[in-house]
Amino acid sequence: MALLEVENISVTLGGVPILREVSLTVEPQRIVTILGANGAGKTTLLRAISGIYPLGQGSIRFDGAPIHGQPAHRIVQSGLSHAPEGRQIFSSMTVRENLQLGAGAQRDWQRELAFVHDIFPILQQRSKQLAGTLSGGEQQMLCIGRALMARPRLLILDEPSLGLAPQFVQQIFRVIETIRQHGVTVVLVEQNARSALRIADDAYVLEHGRIALSGPAQQLMHDAAVQNAYLGAA
Ligand code: ATP
Repeated sequence: MALLEVENISVTLGGVPILREVSLTVEPQRIVTILGANGAGKTTLLRAISGIYPLGQGSIRFDGAPIHGQPAHRIVQSGLSHAPEGRQIFSSMTVRENLQLGAGAQRDWQRELAFVHDIFPILQQRSKQLAGTLSGGEQQMLCIGRALMARPRLLILDEPSLGLAPQFVQQIFRVIETIRQHGVTVVLVEQNARSALRIADDAYVLEHGRIALSGPAQQLMHDAAVQNAYLGAA
């Protein structure tokens, strides 16, 4: 059974239709990437899945159960966690405090903390440091680490490599693969389409709020239209 099934959803924001009849299926333990130009609706799609934006129509099922219409915190509790674009970490709190927030109301979060420290050893070293003093790459790790503290089965990542120095970009992509090896399914929006397609199993292309193309990531990587539009190849 699919872990996530988005069926025919439409989303309207401020009276403007942003997503139109979008469907998408995510199988367990896969990495699924969503490509699209700026303004295509990628962030809106991720926010609709996470319960931040309401649906105009359609349905979203997670692990077989409908989640649309539920409050965002309930969706996190059911195992779907979102590392947002722009990181949104709390600068004047310590790294550890930021991670603790990701654990929500869970009483005992030591296991999750150990897991996050295992994946991002730097966050253990920086535990007591204020999050605002971290480098951009470290802040991105903290953002992903915080999302992992909720012990998700599905992790949504919105532009994790945006604005990072090249060595951090490669590290982030390696980490996404490691996270999947731990059994976490990943939905990834990335402007770095080539690296995203390289690590993804399946891919979707969003254009003007509609799915224009979908298929195995390897197949899309060799698709002429995808190469022209997103991979900078002639
Ligand atoms: P980017 O890569 O630039 O973040 P995106 O594919 O993630 O692009 P979205 O952020 O989902 O695109 O935005 C899709 C469209 O919806 C854009 O045209 C944007 O201006 C519009 N939009 C986003 N949020 C709102 C809002 N709250 N009210 C009205 N329009 C919005």
